[in-house]
Amino acid sequence: MTLIEDAKKGKTPPEVEAVARKEGVDPAALTRLVARGRVVIPRNARRDIRPTGIGETLTTKVNLNIGSSRGVADPAAEVEKAVVAMEAGADTVMDLSTGGDLDEMRRKILKAVEIPVGTVPIYQAEVAGDLTSQGLFDALERQAKDGVDFVTVHVGVNLNSFERLKRSHRIMGVVSRGGSLTLKYMSETGEENPYYAEFDHLLEIAREHELTLSLGDGLRPGCIEDASDRAKYMEFIMLGELVDRARRAGVQAMVEGPGHVPADEIETSVKAMKYVTDGAPLYLLGPIVTDVAPGYDHITAAIGGVIAGMSGADFLCATTPSEHLDLPTKEDIFEGTIVTRIAAHAADLAKAGVKDRARLWDRKMAAARRDLDWPSQFDLAINPAIAREIRHRRGVEVDTCTMCNELCAIRLAREAMEREAEKATRKTKEREG
Ligand code: SF4
Repeated sequence: MTLIEDAKKGKTPPEVEAVARKEGVDPAALTRLVARGRVVIPRNARRDIRPTGIGETLTTKVNLNIGSSRGVADPAAEVEKAVVAMEAGADTVMDLSTGGDLDEMRRKILKAVEIPVGTVPIYQAEVAGDLTSQGLFDALERQAKDGVDFVTVHVGVNLNSFERLKRSHRIMGVVSRGGSLTLKYMSETGEENPYYAEFDHLLEIAREHELTLSLGDGLRPGCIEDASDRAKYMEFIMLGELVDRARRAGVQAMVEGPGHVPADEIETSVKAMKYVTDGAPLYLLGPIVTDVAPGYDHITAAIGGVIAGMSGADFLCATTPSEHLDLPTKEDIFEGTIVTRIAAHAADLAKAGVKDRARLWDRKMAAARRDLDWPSQFDLAINPAIAREIRHRRGVEVDTCTMCNELCAIRLAREAMEREAEKATRKTKEREG
């Protein structure tokens, strides 16, 4: 029995209990959401990890992409990045390696972290020089057997959506690596995407290993001008149908979304995706809201991430300062994790069903600020080290801070209020006696 099948029978598996406890939600209600496929808890049957829930009523989660490229392939560096991401608070990591020994890289990463790990099996088929139907399924099975918890499969890129793409007027065409490899396969062979054509076989493998499917957004826009076109919507309609099939087969499935989207189109885009996929957990890559800020794309994506999260997106894929420029360093991974966690939390503060729980953290910080309680402010900060470093960098020790010093508004106002309270007490005593 898979997790979703247990939940359909009304059983509350230990992973669901653990997620309910961590998130402060009712286990029975969460079980019902898992049964309906509105929440996924990615965890391979072989792995013993911290369970993470993604979807309705849960806090917005953050993924970090790591992995080698053809030019830069150092397993130790990628493992270090995975650990940096986990320690900085990422909920999951994806190993997108395409250079060096992919098996070694993946196995080391799986050992190094206690959070769900995702992969993209088509990369391994391509790297192995076996971009064939057999090669694609071999890569999927190999990774599932290693213990990978979720995989991106670009099942929405098929002959049907390919036709829509040919008729579109995109500037950037296709920017998804998995999407472009699938197009390459279909154009070279004239055949259907194997993961789409043999989706039932894919589901059997996923079911056997309790592998969560992330139905990839292979036709995601690569610039804001390309957002919201027909090829993208065609892909989503097909992904919605495949979500239904996965749920019927007892396989957990989420859906990936764009990409690059102008701020005013994000809410419509998120709501449409949620609608056509029957509320499947939505995993967004960005969305980046402007194309002109290379070096700052962790920020452009965080802006889009807040709007998307408020509109219903469940899972944000972090972007780092290296996006569009270079393979990220571990410093970029750290920065991307923190900035995306800020976006996810800001979205949660405004998200129905989540905001009351999310706001407790901010309330505690507000009380610590009011009390000029610096140790508590550091403890509550999303990145305590940077808060501490900035506070102490001038070597000046004051109980306020050097922003306003003696003119500290918080202290002046508190003293004024205390003075007024004393006056009131004095007057009462004079009246009484
Ligand atoms: S000195 Fe100014 S900035 Fe610093 S804590 Fe007081 S009010 Fe805030």
